Amino acid sequence: MSADCLFCRIARKEIPAKLVYEDGDIFAFEDINPQAPTHILLCPRKHFASLDEASPEDQAVIGKLHLAAAQLARERNLVSGYRTVFNTGRGAGQTVFHLHLHLLGGRAFDWPPG
Ligand code: AMP
Ligand code: ZN
Repeated sequence: MSADCLFCRIARKEIPAKLVYEDGDIFAFEDINPQAPTHILLCPRKHFASLDEASPEDQAVIGKLHLAAAQLARERNLVSGYRTVFNTGRGAGQTVFHLHLHLLGGRAFDWPPG
């Protein structure tokens, strides 16, 4: 936990968010500025800034974020496909430095991404 981290504050329910899933390891909520009809952020409860700060003990929770994203995608019937993204570092567009997996779906996506 980090006292002034935005996503830690959402996890502690100090800042309101539309939570869509939570358990002892992870929590997921709707992105405040959605870039697709479905845009959910999935976070570990443990605070670490990015994939670059992850350690071997974080291996299971990183996998869990992906499996939870797949479950949410099934629940939302994202049958034509969806995208999961970690932005790592400012150069990749990361703006909140608590690891989060973006789940985007409900529209077509270009490749390569911008
Ligand atoms: P990133 O740019 O990969 O660090 O993603 C950060 C994401 O957090 C962006 O998509 C923002 O729209 C989203 N975001 C920022 N503040 C909030 C908030 N209070 N509640 C929900 N999503 C947020
Ligand atoms: Zn945090």
